[in-house]
Amino acid sequence: MEKFKKMDLEIRYTTSHNQIRNLPGENSFQKYRVAKSTLVVGIRKTLKFDTSKPSAEYAIPLATGCMGHCHYCYLQTTMGSKPYIRTYVNVDEILEAADKYIEERAPKLTRFEASCTSDIVGIDHLTHTLKRAIEHFGESKHGNLRFVTKFHHVDHLLDAKHNGKTRFRFSVNADYVIKYFEPGTSSLEKRIEAAGKVARAGYPLGFIVAPIYLHEGWEKGYYHMFELLDAELPLEARKDLTFEFIQHRFTKPAKKVIQKNYPMTKLELEEDKRRYKWGKYGIGKYIYQKNEEEDIKQHLQNYMNKFFPNAKLEYFT
Ligand code: SF4
Repeated sequence: MEKFKKMDLEIRYTTSHNQIRNLPGENSFQKYRVAKSTLVVGIRKTLKFDTSKPSAEYAIPLATGCMGHCHYCYLQTTMGSKPYIRTYVNVDEILEAADKYIEERAPKLTRFEASCTSDIVGIDHLTHTLKRAIEHFGESKHGNLRFVTKFHHVDHLLDAKHNGKTRFRFSVNADYVIKYFEPGTSSLEKRIEAAGKVARAGYPLGFIVAPIYLHEGWEKGYYHMFELLDAELPLEARKDLTFEFIQHRFTKPAKKVIQKNYPMTKLELEEDKRRYKWGKYGIGKYIYQKNEEEDIKQHLQNYMNKFFPNAKLEYFT
């Protein structure tokens, strides 16, 4: 509270969830934008963690929501009427709950993903919750932490005692995708510069290229992205570097929400152009055609092998 009072911010105190839900705005379009600029500081009541395949065993709930405006973001469907950002003050309880999950599986390693429901790095310069979690897992024998971000606000995390237990991943993409579909996030150059800092601070590093999106000149766009990574990353980061490749996909419910929240989007969402893949709970997703998928996979794998021959591709999906 002390910290936020010193900033030029509007602060409201409430115990009412309805008041939070009814944020100002004349229509749903405006309300959505106000909500995404609102940080709710509260208590995390549910300490049961969701699973988080394929990148980790559990999702650790350090925050929910995000101030970014990525047109394709799945939080639009999962957070529905509550797109505001929430951060929790009972961090000790959340970390204790994580320790219990670790104990249950020990001596097997348990990995926790901190960015399933938010872009935690984007708000952590305000809260330092992630920093506490990084240092907590730094002391852990059988627990690891990982997260991914599209933001460059990493300076306060550089001196955290991570002991190599946290994998710091950046979401990167071709300039075209960032320019047209990721408003409100850091530029590619800033993300890559931040990745260099993180690597020099000794963190294991990774990149998620997502969503891989076909557009005019996509081959060049993704090649250039790899060139920029190559120019920035120090030698020591290349020995233990991971990549995850995720092609663009959408579901029918997601398409509706995207078109409501971002009516002018250029994002291609035509079911006829895509291949249908059955999904969980009967909600299938539309992914690229088989030949396009192969094309994407081959190009990106070739680039990765050319620039980072020792990197590991965790999955392509
Ligand atoms: Fe969603 Fe990540 Fe973009 Fe935030 S930065 S809007 S979490 S895709």
